[in-house]
Amino acid sequence: MLSCDVLVVGAGPAGSSTAAKCSEEGLNTIFIDKKDRIGDPVQCAEAIGRYLIPYLPFRLPKRIFRRYIKGIEFVAGDISIIKEGPQWDGYSISRRILDKWLAERAEKKGAELIINAELVKLEIKNDCVVATIKKDGEKVYVKAKVVVGADGAKSKVVRELGFKRLNRKCGVVVGWQFDNVNLENPDYDQIYLGNFAPGAYGYVFPISDNSANIGVATILNKNKIYQYFEKFVNSKKIRTQINNAQKIEEKSGHIPFLDFCDRWVYKNILLVGDAANQNIKPFGEGILPSIICGDIAGKAIFEHLSKCTPLSIYETYVKNKLGDLFEYSKKSTEVLSKLGKYNDMKFDIIRLGIFAQIFCFEELEMLINKEIEELIGLIKNGTT
Ligand SMILES: Cc1cc2nc3c(=O)[nH]c(=O)nc-3n(C[C@H](O)[C@H](O)[C@H](O)COP(=O)(O)OP(=O)(O)OC[C@H]3O[C@@H](n4cnc5c(N)ncnc54)[C@H](O)[C@@H]3O)c2cc1C
Repeated sequence: MLSCDVLVVGAGPAGSSTAAKCSEEGLNTIFIDKKDRIGDPVQCAEAIGRYLIPYLPFRLPKRIFRRYIKGIEFVAGDISIIKEGPQWDGYSISRRILDKWLAERAEKKGAELIINAELVKLEIKNDCVVATIKKDGEKVYVKAKVVVGADGAKSKVVRELGFKRLNRKCGVVVGWQFDNVNLENPDYDQIYLGNFAPGAYGYVFPISDNSANIGVATILNKNKIYQYFEKFVNSKKIRTQINNAQKIEEKSGHIPFLDFCDRWVYKNILLVGDAANQNIKPFGEGILPSIICGDIAGKAIFEHLSKCTPLSIYETYVKNKLGDLFEYSKKSTEVLSKLGKYNDMKFDIIRLGIFAQIFCFEELEMLINKEIEELIGLIKNGTT
């Protein structure tokens, strides 16, 4: 049986960030991933908001950044508005390079990475957790003082805690990298509201002048997602941009939409990143929040093991740092759940106003009672 202070399950942004911080603090740390290559396959649209960068605990290397994005164009039917500047600008990044760099960084700080290693069972005891891991067809046992569930939207750790049906609480995304695109404006991300993406949105996120991540997300009728994707890419505004394009790489996956469980700490188990639904709605931005929360988790684990501080301090630290953003995300989730079920242009216009922060959550009932022409007028004026 292997033994360590901290076992981190998952070597995505959340897990590698946690493992790095734990090792930096001198804790004996193992992090595992069921993949055989960290960063592959990419399951992401690879956009980050610049407003989140100041919250990062360390600098990201230049080579992960691919393009500066000036802002976002929001489109519903014939209505289009552009938001730019702080809060709306950001970058297109390479997830493949980022995830690999984060894992290597944790290893350099002393954490032991075991790949091809899938967590299959957790036995939670009072002073430790025993994890059963499948590695190359064999069972390996790891005894750890603390276990971190950083294993994403289908978290086995969360399921081992007794919470089931995680898929139901996720949105589903089908996205591809297209090369040889002819983008209307490669300096702006594009977000589309319409019946091709019930409850969520379609997106075109430029990677370069002639390539982009293009996809749809939905929180409803998820089994129709491939039909939604076809409908979206065949809509007029997208078709003209991808007429001569080639589909290069699929980057689809799941994003947590509703909370899987009520806390982020259960006895000696912490949840971080997507396993803790730490992405910011309405866009489902989870890359940078996962890195930020992973670092905080590492700090809380160190304080727990060295000074007996309760592990629940992790939740307080996260709330102190990102509390306002997660509060906003929670309100977005409530409003989007409510509006998503209406398959109607008027509600797409309301969602556009909310996404672009022209409308605020408190105005929802008043907005629902307005006629579509009036809503369009308000959007065009940029005010309620
Ligand atoms: C299609 C798509 C597009 C997205 N686009 C964006 C975007 O543009 N911007 C943004 O900010 N966010 C985006 N997100 C969200 C973002 O990708 C996630 O929030 C982020 O990856 C969360 O990081 P994580 O480390 O928590 O989980 P993950 O990145 O999912 O990493 C979890 C790791 O755990 C491993 N694992 C799982 N189960 C086990 C197990 N039992 N044993 C061992 N290892 C296991 C997995 O192999 C994986 O490597 C997108 C998500 C999807 C699906």
